[in-house]
Amino acid sequence: MGEKDLKYKNTKNIHYYLFGNGAISQLEEVLKEGYRIYFIDSYFKNKDLIKTLPLQKDDEIIYVDTINEPTTDKIDEYKQYLVKKNKNNPSTIIGIGGGATLDSAKAVANLLTNEGRAEDYQGWDLVKNPAIYKIGIPTISGTGAEASRTCVMTNVKSGLKLGMNSDYTIYDQLILDPNLTKTVPDEQYFYTGMDTYIHSFESLNGSFRHTVGDAFAREAIRLCKEVFDSENMKSDENREKLMTASYLGGCAIANSFVGVVHPFSAGLSVVFKIHHCEANCITMRGMEEFYPKEYKEFFEMAEKQNIEIPSLSKYVKNIDEDAFEKLYNSTIIHEKPLINALGEDFKEILTYEKVKEIFKKMLKD
Ligand code: NAD
Ligand code: ZN
Repeated sequence: MGEKDLKYKNTKNIHYYLFGNGAISQLEEVLKEGYRIYFIDSYFKNKDLIKTLPLQKDDEIIYVDTINEPTTDKIDEYKQYLVKKNKNNPSTIIGIGGGATLDSAKAVANLLTNEGRAEDYQGWDLVKNPAIYKIGIPTISGTGAEASRTCVMTNVKSGLKLGMNSDYTIYDQLILDPNLTKTVPDEQYFYTGMDTYIHSFESLNGSFRHTVGDAFAREAIRLCKEVFDSENMKSDENREKLMTASYLGGCAIANSFVGVVHPFSAGLSVVFKIHHCEANCITMRGMEEFYPKEYKEFFEMAEKQNIEIPSLSKYVKNIDEDAFEKLYNSTIIHEKPLINALGEDFKEILTYEKVKEIFKKMLKD
Protein backbone atom coordinates (compact mmCIF):
# COMPACT_ATOMS: atom_id res chain seq x y z
CA MET A 1 0.00 0.00 0.00
CA GLY A 2 1.47 3.38 -0.98
CA GLU A 3 1.54 6.29 1.43
CA LYS A 4 -1.30 8.02 -0.38
CA ASP A 5 -3.61 5.10 0.45
CA LEU A 6 -2.97 5.33 4.16
CA LYS A 7 -5.34 7.27 6.31
CA TYR A 8 -2.87 7.93 9.11
CA LYS A 9 0.80 8.61 8.80
CA ASN A 10 3.03 6.40 10.90
CA THR A 11 5.19 8.95 12.65
CA LYS A 12 8.68 8.31 13.89
CA ASN A 13 10.28 10.57 16.48
CA ILE A 14 13.73 10.48 18.07
CA HIS A 15 14.33 7.29 20.07
CA TYR A 16 17.00 8.51 22.48
CA TYR A 17 18.24 11.80 23.76
CA LEU A 18 20.54 12.96 26.52
CA PHE A 19 19.53 16.39 27.76
CA GLY A 20 21.37 18.73 30.11
CA ASN A 21 24.33 21.04 30.60
CA GLY A 22 27.52 19.12 29.97
CA ALA A 23 25.70 16.14 28.41
CA ILE A 24 28.28 16.03 25.60
CA SER A 25 30.70 14.49 28.12
CA GLN A 26 28.59 11.32 27.83
CA LEU A 27 29.16 10.98 24.10
CA GLU A 28 31.39 7.94 24.57
CA GLU A 29 28.48 5.98 26.11
CA VAL A 30 26.44 6.18 22.96
CA LEU A 31 29.15 5.60 20.34
CA LYS A 32 29.31 2.25 18.61
CA GLU A 33 32.46 0.13 18.30
CA GLY A 34 34.56 0.77 15.22
CA TYR A 35 35.81 3.94 13.59
CA ARG A 36 33.62 7.01 13.53
CA ILE A 37 33.17 10.00 11.26
CA TYR A 38 32.57 13.40 12.83
CA PHE A 39 31.02 16.27 10.93
CA ILE A 40 31.77 19.39 12.95
CA ASP A 41 30.87 23.03 12.29
CA SER A 42 34.12 24.72 11.30
CA TYR A 43 33.52 27.32 14.01
CA PHE A 44 34.83 24.68 16.46
CA LYS A 45 38.11 24.02 14.65
CA ASN A 46 40.89 24.63 17.20
CA LYS A 47 38.36 25.21 19.98
CA ASP A 48 38.50 23.33 23.29
CA LEU A 49 35.45 21.26 22.38
CA ILE A 50 37.54 19.16 19.99
CA LYS A 51 39.96 18.19 22.77
CA THR A 52 37.08 16.84 24.85
CA LEU A 53 35.86 14.41 22.18
CA PRO A 54 36.62 10.70 22.74
CA LEU A 55 38.57 10.46 19.49
CA GLN A 56 40.28 7.23 18.44
CA LYS A 57 43.07 6.53 15.97
CA ASP A 58 40.99 5.78 12.88
CA ASP A 59 38.30 8.38 13.46
CA GLU A 60 37.89 11.08 10.88
CA ILE A 61 36.86 14.70 11.45
CA ILE A 62 35.31 16.63 8.59
CA TYR A 63 34.86 20.33 9.30
CA VAL A 64 31.73 21.72 7.68
CA ASP A 65 32.08 25.23 6.46
CA THR A 66 28.79 27.06 6.80
CA ILE A 67 29.51 29.88 4.36
CA ASN A 68 27.22 28.07 1.96
CA GLU A 69 24.32 25.90 2.99
CA PRO A 70 24.62 22.22 2.01
CA THR A 71 24.43 21.40 -1.68
CA THR A 72 23.90 18.01 -3.26
CA ASP A 73 27.35 18.36 -4.87
CA LYS A 74 28.99 18.94 -1.50
CA ILE A 75 27.32 15.85 -0.04
CA ASP A 76 28.54 13.79 -3.02
CA GLU A 77 32.01 15.19 -2.45
CA TYR A 78 32.01 14.05 1.21
CA LYS A 79 30.94 10.58 0.11
CA GLN A 80 33.67 10.39 -2.52
CA TYR A 81 36.26 11.56 -0.02
CA LEU A 82 35.27 8.81 2.43
CA VAL A 83 35.13 6.15 -0.29
CA LYS A 84 38.63 7.12 -1.49
CA LYS A 85 40.00 6.93 2.06
CA ASN A 86 38.27 3.60 2.56
CA LYS A 87 36.31 5.15 5.39
CA ASN A 88 32.84 4.60 3.95
CA ASN A 89 31.63 2.05 6.46
CA PRO A 90 31.89 3.77 9.84
CA SER A 91 30.18 2.45 12.97
CA THR A 92 28.85 5.90 13.83
CA ILE A 93 28.41 9.29 12.21
CA ILE A 94 28.33 12.25 14.57
CA GLY A 95 27.06 15.71 13.58
CA ILE A 96 28.09 18.61 15.86
CA GLY A 97 26.89 22.07 14.82
CA GLY A 98 23.98 24.04 13.47
CA GLY A 99 21.39 22.97 10.92
CA ALA A 100 23.89 22.98 8.06
CA THR A 101 26.23 20.56 9.83
CA LEU A 102 23.48 18.37 11.26
CA ASP A 103 21.95 18.07 7.79
CA SER A 104 25.29 17.27 6.13
CA ALA A 105 25.88 14.43 8.59
CA LYS A 106 22.36 13.09 8.02
CA ALA A 107 22.69 13.19 4.25
CA VAL A 108 26.08 11.43 4.22
CA ALA A 109 24.80 8.77 6.63
CA ASN A 110 22.04 7.99 4.13
CA LEU A 111 24.27 8.13 1.10
CA LEU A 112 26.90 5.72 2.46
CA THR A 113 24.34 2.90 2.59
CA ASN A 114 22.48 3.85 -0.58
CA GLU A 115 24.10 3.92 -3.99
CA GLY A 116 24.13 6.90 -6.28
CA ARG A 117 24.13 10.62 -5.65
CA ALA A 118 22.50 12.92 -3.13
CA GLU A 119 20.12 14.35 -5.72
CA ASP A 120 18.64 10.88 -6.31
CA TYR A 121 17.09 11.05 -2.84
CA GLN A 122 15.70 14.60 -2.80
CA GLY A 123 12.02 14.03 -2.18
CA TRP A 124 9.77 11.87 -0.03
CA ASP A 125 10.65 8.33 1.07
CA LEU A 126 13.19 7.61 -1.65
CA VAL A 127 15.95 6.32 0.65
CA LYS A 128 15.89 2.52 0.41
CA ASN A 129 18.34 1.21 3.01
CA PRO A 130 18.72 2.25 6.66
CA ALA A 131 21.48 4.79 7.21
CA ILE A 132 24.65 4.49 9.27
CA TYR A 133 23.90 4.85 13.02
CA LYS A 134 24.09 8.56 13.77
CA ILE A 135 24.25 10.97 16.68
CA GLY A 136 23.21 14.63 16.46
CA ILE A 137 24.63 17.30 18.77
CA PRO A 138 23.18 20.76 18.04
CA THR A 139 25.28 23.80 18.98
CA ILE A 140 22.66 26.40 18.07
CA SER A 141 18.91 26.11 18.61
CA GLY A 142 15.99 26.62 16.29
CA THR A 143 15.93 24.72 13.03
CA GLY A 144 14.74 21.47 14.58
CA ALA A 145 17.14 19.67 12.21
CA GLU A 146 18.14 17.56 15.20
CA ALA A 147 14.62 16.08 15.36
CA SER A 148 13.26 16.27 11.83
CA ARG A 149 13.09 13.62 9.10
CA THR A 150 14.79 15.73 6.47
CA CYS A 151 18.20 17.16 5.60
CA VAL A 152 17.89 20.21 3.41
CA MET A 153 20.19 20.46 0.37
CA THR A 154 20.23 22.72 -2.65
CA ASN A 155 20.71 21.23 -6.05
CA VAL A 156 22.56 24.07 -7.72
CA LYS A 157 21.87 22.85 -11.26
CA SER A 158 18.10 22.46 -10.90
CA GLY A 159 17.63 25.14 -8.23
CA LEU A 160 15.73 22.63 -6.14
CA LYS A 161 16.08 23.10 -2.39
CA LEU A 162 14.73 19.89 -0.94
CA GLY A 163 15.88 17.30 1.55
CA MET A 164 15.85 13.53 1.81
CA ASN A 165 12.53 13.20 3.64
CA SER A 166 12.73 9.76 5.14
CA ASP A 167 12.43 7.95 8.46
CA TYR A 168 16.04 6.87 7.86
CA THR A 169 17.11 10.52 8.00
CA ILE A 170 16.08 10.86 11.67
CA TYR A 171 18.94 10.78 14.16
CA ASP A 172 19.22 7.61 16.25
CA GLN A 173 20.51 9.51 19.26
CA LEU A 174 20.72 13.17 20.27
CA ILE A 175 22.84 14.95 22.80
CA LEU A 176 21.09 18.18 23.74
CA ASP A 177 23.61 20.21 25.71
CA PRO A 178 22.55 23.85 26.22
CA ASN A 179 26.12 24.78 27.26
CA LEU A 180 27.10 24.45 23.62
CA THR A 181 25.00 27.42 22.49
CA LYS A 182 26.68 30.01 24.75
CA THR A 183 28.97 31.29 22.03
CA VAL A 184 26.36 31.85 19.31
CA PRO A 185 26.35 35.53 18.21
CA ASP A 186 23.16 37.39 19.20
CA GLU A 187 21.76 38.00 15.73
CA GLN A 188 22.31 34.41 14.65
CA TYR A 189 20.81 33.21 17.93
CA PHE A 190 17.67 35.22 17.20
CA TYR A 191 17.37 34.30 13.50
CA THR A 192 17.84 30.58 14.10
CA GLY A 193 15.71 30.56 17.26
CA MET A 194 12.90 32.15 15.29
CA ASP A 195 12.88 29.25 12.82
CA THR A 196 11.10 27.09 15.38
CA TYR A 197 8.63 29.87 16.22
CA ILE A 198 7.91 30.36 12.51
CA HIS A 199 7.48 26.76 11.43
CA SER A 200 5.40 26.06 14.54
CA PHE A 201 2.92 28.86 13.82
CA GLU A 202 2.85 27.90 10.14
CA SER A 203 1.87 24.37 11.09
CA LEU A 204 -0.77 25.57 13.59
CA ASN A 205 -2.32 27.83 10.96
CA GLY A 206 -2.41 25.10 8.32
CA SER A 207 -5.17 22.73 7.35
CA PHE A 208 -3.28 19.41 7.60
CA ARG A 209 -3.50 19.29 11.36
CA HIS A 210 -2.73 16.60 13.83
CA THR A 211 -3.36 16.91 17.58
CA VAL A 212 0.09 15.59 18.49
CA GLY A 213 1.81 17.93 16.04
CA ASP A 214 -0.26 20.82 17.38
CA ALA A 215 0.79 20.04 20.94
CA PHE A 216 4.48 20.06 20.01
CA ALA A 217 4.04 23.30 18.06
CA ARG A 218 2.09 25.12 20.79
CA GLU A 219 4.70 24.32 23.39
CA ALA A 220 7.53 25.34 21.06
CA ILE A 221 5.84 28.70 20.52
CA ARG A 222 5.21 29.19 24.22
CA LEU A 223 8.88 28.55 25.02
CA CYS A 224 10.06 30.88 22.23
CA LYS A 225 7.89 33.67 23.53
CA GLU A 226 9.26 33.21 27.03
CA VAL A 227 12.82 33.35 25.70
CA PHE A 228 12.41 36.30 23.37
CA ASP A 229 10.14 38.36 25.64
CA SER A 230 12.67 38.16 28.45
CA GLU A 231 15.50 40.53 29.33
CA ASN A 232 18.31 38.13 28.42
CA MET A 233 17.47 35.66 25.67
CA LYS A 234 20.79 33.87 26.24
CA SER A 235 20.58 33.26 29.99
CA ASP A 236 21.28 29.68 31.12
CA GLU A 237 17.59 29.05 31.57
CA ASN A 238 16.67 30.55 28.21
CA ARG A 239 19.27 28.53 26.31
CA GLU A 240 17.74 25.40 27.83
CA LYS A 241 14.27 26.54 26.86
CA LEU A 242 15.27 27.39 23.31
CA MET A 243 17.01 24.06 22.83
CA THR A 244 13.81 22.39 24.00
CA ALA A 245 11.67 24.57 21.72
CA SER A 246 13.88 23.66 18.77
CA TYR A 247 13.57 19.96 19.49
CA LEU A 248 9.79 20.16 19.93
CA GLY A 249 9.46 22.29 16.80
CA GLY A 250 11.36 19.62 14.85
CA CYS A 251 8.96 16.98 16.20
CA ALA A 252 6.01 19.19 15.24
CA ILE A 253 7.21 19.36 11.68
CA ALA A 254 7.56 15.57 11.52
CA ASN A 255 3.78 15.56 12.09
CA SER A 256 2.73 18.42 9.81
CA PHE A 257 3.76 20.98 7.21
CA VAL A 258 5.00 24.55 7.10
CA GLY A 259 3.02 27.37 5.47
CA VAL A 260 3.58 30.56 3.48
CA VAL A 261 6.80 31.81 5.12
CA HIS A 262 9.04 28.88 4.22
CA PRO A 263 8.29 28.84 0.46
CA PHE A 264 9.07 32.56 0.16
CA SER A 265 12.15 32.12 2.30
CA ALA A 266 13.27 29.26 0.06
CA GLY A 267 12.88 31.59 -2.92
CA LEU A 268 15.28 34.05 -1.27
CA SER A 269 17.76 31.29 -0.48
CA VAL A 270 17.73 29.84 -3.99
CA VAL A 271 17.88 33.15 -5.89
CA PHE A 272 20.05 35.31 -3.57
CA LYS A 273 21.80 32.60 -1.49
CA ILE A 274 20.50 34.10 1.76
CA HIS A 275 20.83 31.63 4.63
CA HIS A 276 17.64 29.95 5.71
CA CYS A 277 16.96 31.52 9.11
CA GLU A 278 17.85 35.06 8.06
CA ALA A 279 15.75 34.57 4.91
CA ASN A 280 12.79 33.59 7.10
CA CYS A 281 13.17 36.79 9.11
CA ILE A 282 13.38 38.92 5.95
CA THR A 283 10.30 37.12 4.63
CA MET A 284 8.37 38.04 7.78
CA ARG A 285 8.41 41.65 6.51
CA GLY A 286 5.94 40.58 3.83
CA MET A 287 3.75 38.25 5.89
CA GLU A 288 1.37 40.58 7.77
CA GLU A 289 -1.70 39.71 5.70
CA PHE A 290 -1.21 35.95 6.12
CA TYR A 291 -0.23 35.87 9.80
CA PRO A 292 -1.23 39.21 11.39
CA LYS A 293 -0.96 38.09 15.02
CA GLU A 294 2.39 36.37 14.60
CA TYR A 295 3.74 39.22 12.47
CA LYS A 296 3.10 41.61 15.32
CA GLU A 297 4.59 39.27 17.95
CA PHE A 298 7.64 38.58 15.81
CA PHE A 299 8.58 42.24 15.40
CA GLU A 300 7.88 42.93 19.07
CA MET A 301 10.28 40.15 20.07
CA ALA A 302 12.95 41.46 17.66
CA GLU A 303 12.59 44.93 19.14
CA LYS A 304 12.77 43.64 22.69
CA GLN A 305 16.05 41.86 21.88
CA ASN A 306 17.42 44.78 19.90
CA ILE A 307 17.73 42.71 16.76
CA GLU A 308 17.44 44.52 13.46
CA ILE A 309 15.52 42.42 10.94
CA PRO A 310 17.32 43.11 7.68
CA SER A 311 15.58 44.43 4.61
CA LEU A 312 16.05 42.45 1.41
CA SER A 313 17.84 45.58 0.17
CA LYS A 314 20.85 44.37 2.21
CA TYR A 315 21.33 41.80 -0.58
CA VAL A 316 19.78 43.39 -3.65
CA LYS A 317 18.79 46.95 -4.47
CA ASN A 318 16.46 46.35 -7.39
CA ILE A 319 14.93 43.11 -8.47
CA ASP A 320 14.63 42.84 -12.26
CA GLU A 321 11.89 40.89 -14.03
CA ASP A 322 14.15 37.93 -14.62
CA ALA A 323 14.90 37.65 -10.89
CA PHE A 324 11.20 38.04 -10.05
CA GLU A 325 10.44 35.11 -12.33
CA LYS A 326 13.06 32.99 -10.60
CA LEU A 327 11.71 34.05 -7.21
CA TYR A 328 8.17 33.22 -8.25
CA ASN A 329 9.16 29.78 -9.56
CA SER A 330 11.24 28.83 -6.55
CA THR A 331 8.45 29.91 -4.19
CA ILE A 332 5.46 28.40 -5.93
CA ILE A 333 7.21 25.04 -6.39
CA HIS A 334 6.56 24.31 -2.67
CA GLU A 335 3.08 23.01 -3.23
CA LYS A 336 2.56 20.99 -0.05
CA PRO A 337 3.09 23.87 2.40
CA LEU A 338 1.19 26.30 0.18
CA ILE A 339 -1.79 23.96 -0.07
CA ASN A 340 -1.56 23.47 3.70
CA ALA A 341 -1.74 27.24 4.21
CA LEU A 342 -3.95 28.47 1.38
CA GLY A 343 -5.77 25.47 -0.08
CA GLU A 344 -5.64 23.63 -3.41
CA ASP A 345 -6.22 26.84 -5.34
CA PHE A 346 -3.26 28.63 -3.81
CA LYS A 347 -2.09 29.81 -7.26
CA GLU A 348 -5.22 31.93 -7.53
CA ILE A 349 -4.15 33.76 -4.38
CA LEU A 350 -0.44 33.78 -5.09
CA THR A 351 -0.56 35.11 -8.63
CA TYR A 352 2.68 36.26 -10.21
CA GLU A 353 1.79 39.89 -9.46
CA LYS A 354 0.89 39.07 -5.87
CA VAL A 355 4.16 37.22 -5.29
CA LYS A 356 6.04 40.20 -6.72
CA GLU A 357 4.19 42.57 -4.41
CA ILE A 358 5.15 40.45 -1.38
CA PHE A 359 8.83 40.39 -2.32
CA LYS A 360 8.71 44.16 -2.87
CA LYS A 361 7.49 44.59 0.73
CA MET A 362 10.66 42.86 1.89
CA LEU A 363 12.77 45.39 -0.05
CA LYS A 364 11.48 48.38 1.90
CA ASP A 365 13.87 49.82 4.50
P1 NAD B 1 24.13 27.06 10.42
O1 NAD B 1 24.32 25.64 10.67
O2 NAD B 1 24.45 27.60 9.11
O3 NAD B 1 24.92 27.89 11.54
C1 NAD B 1 24.75 29.29 11.58
C2 NAD B 1 26.00 29.98 12.05
O4 NAD B 1 26.15 29.77 13.44
C3 NAD B 1 27.27 29.47 11.39
O5 NAD B 1 28.11 30.56 11.12
C4 NAD B 1 27.88 28.58 12.46
O6 NAD B 1 29.26 28.49 12.35
C5 NAD B 1 27.46 29.32 13.71
N1 NAD B 1 27.42 28.53 14.94
C6 NAD B 1 26.77 27.37 15.17
N2 NAD B 1 26.91 27.00 16.46
C7 NAD B 1 27.69 27.95 17.03
C8 NAD B 1 28.19 28.12 18.35
N3 NAD B 1 27.88 27.28 19.34
N4 NAD B 1 28.95 29.20 18.61
C9 NAD B 1 29.24 30.10 17.63
N5 NAD B 1 28.79 29.99 16.37
C10 NAD B 1 28.02 28.91 16.08
O7 NAD B 1 22.67 27.59 10.73
P2 NAD B 1 21.32 27.13 11.32
O8 NAD B 1 20.54 28.37 11.33
O9 NAD B 1 21.41 26.31 12.56
O10 NAD B 1 20.82 26.13 10.21
C11 NAD B 1 20.44 26.52 8.93
C12 NAD B 1 20.47 25.30 8.04
O11 NAD B 1 19.56 24.35 8.54
C13 NAD B 1 20.11 25.57 6.62
O12 NAD B 1 20.98 24.87 5.78
C14 NAD B 1 18.69 25.04 6.52
O13 NAD B 1 18.36 24.63 5.22
C15 NAD B 1 18.74 23.89 7.49
N6 NAD B 1 17.45 23.52 8.06
C16 NAD B 1 17.21 22.20 8.21
C17 NAD B 1 16.02 21.77 8.74
C18 NAD B 1 15.76 20.32 8.89
O14 NAD B 1 14.69 19.93 9.33
N7 NAD B 1 16.66 19.46 8.53
C19 NAD B 1 15.06 22.69 9.17
C20 NAD B 1 15.35 24.03 9.03
C21 NAD B 1 16.56 24.44 8.47
ZN1 ZN C 1 12.89 26.52 8.80
